Amino acid sequence: MKVFKFGGASVNSADAVRNMAQIVQNHLEAEPLIVVVSAMGKTTNLLEKLVPGRVRGGERRDECCKLRQQLEEYHLGIAKELIPSDVDLVGKVQSMLHQLDAAVAGLTPDTEHYNYNYDQVVSFGELLSTTIIAHYLNHHGISTLWVDARRIVATDSHHREGRVDWTATQENLTAEREKWYNGNTPQVVLTQGFIGGTPSTPQHPTPSTTTLGREGSDYSAAILAYCLGAESVTIWKDVPGFLNADPKYFKDTVKINQIPYNEAIELAYYGASVIHPKTVKPLQNKGIPLYIRSFITPAADGSAIGNCRTISPETPLYIFKNDQILLSIAPRDYSFIAEDNLQVIFGMLNDLGIRVNLMQNSALSFSICIDNNEQRVGLLVERLGALFQVRYNDNLQLVTIRYYTQEVIDSIVGGRKVLLEQRSRLTEQLVVSCV
Ligand code: ASP
Ligand code: MG
Repeated sequence: MKVFKFGGASVNSADAVRNMAQIVQNHLEAEPLIVVVSAMGKTTNLLEKLVPGRVRGGERRDECCKLRQQLEEYHLGIAKELIPSDVDLVGKVQSMLHQLDAAVAGLTPDTEHYNYNYDQVVSFGELLSTTIIAHYLNHHGISTLWVDARRIVATDSHHREGRVDWTATQENLTAEREKWYNGNTPQVVLTQGFIGGTPSTPQHPTPSTTTLGREGSDYSAAILAYCLGAESVTIWKDVPGFLNADPKYFKDTVKINQIPYNEAIELAYYGASVIHPKTVKPLQNKGIPLYIRSFITPAADGSAIGNCRTISPETPLYIFKNDQILLSIAPRDYSFIAEDNLQVIFGMLNDLGIRVNLMQNSALSFSICIDNNEQRVGLLVERLGALFQVRYNDNLQLVTIRYYTQEVIDSIVGGRKVLLEQRSRLTEQLVVSCV
């Protein structure tokens, strides 16, 4: 059994869905193909703006109406182009949009409920895309079973970052799988990436929708593959495979053909955007290979992440994180930075959910490089400022180079100012000014 994952860009138009269906068609086997799909195009970004109780920059009512209209036109447009004059599909999409309206109307619009609200609203992107695609595949002669991931991927109620309950998910999938083999076995089992659900408990009898974090559909594919003991996972992307740098920054990128699991985990951790950071570990635990292939050139090989020993070809790998801020924290009484101070600082970071991208300690100060998420960073600076002396530089870039050489480092830095540098045997990290 194989798992395929298609992201938003691979299903962002009727033509894209046709292309995706062709790829699926070319890979049908005796066992059902498990297909995980994201929301179409940039739908998740649009839905985020409709969440009641948005933390900042809440859209005005007429702006929300416009966005809601846009959402409807986009999905109905694709549905009608894929299967002209199919009233059944149009009805399904409309009824799903009404469910969305009802969900929005029933939510309490305050910031306290924001994360819960977010999941109830934003999950409609995947529900809409998979409804349309399942219908199209069936229409196209590929027998497809639509499965609601909220019933399968069990998580806790940590909204926007649901933590998977592996035992419950495994049980759900075992029961679900049995159904596939009773009667007409579908050729494709199609489900949503990114979303899951809380189980119903005596205290909370109504299950609620959760999400796994932005770009979480890769992770969904890995969860399903793990629990089904799948043969492989393939992520279909708009790039030829795992590249040594983001093509946005580099003209001459090199495709890495083979990557060991641990290397892929390191790279995702440093911010390589090609795979979601949580995706690789479950696959590694079961030795399931992960392929990254292009939906634009589906006959090409792509990259394989698996049990190999080294990356091949061996070449420096670059990861850039923009809009970074470097905070320098020092005790007000000129004492040393000690464990007790660090405990306080990490407590604040943890409370605010801020991830440290790089840190460095000296006798008199402690520096951290973090994403410049204005709201949370503002709060952090305020809280730290009450106890410590805080200085910061913003508008910085964090560059990570695996398999560096001095020549490579010099060419990346150019004439820029280096504010912090950290080097280990394989990895060089630099915080540099943007100009
Ligand atoms: N649709 C979600 C997002 O855009 C999940 C995903 O694409 O992986 O973040
Ligand atoms: Mg996406």
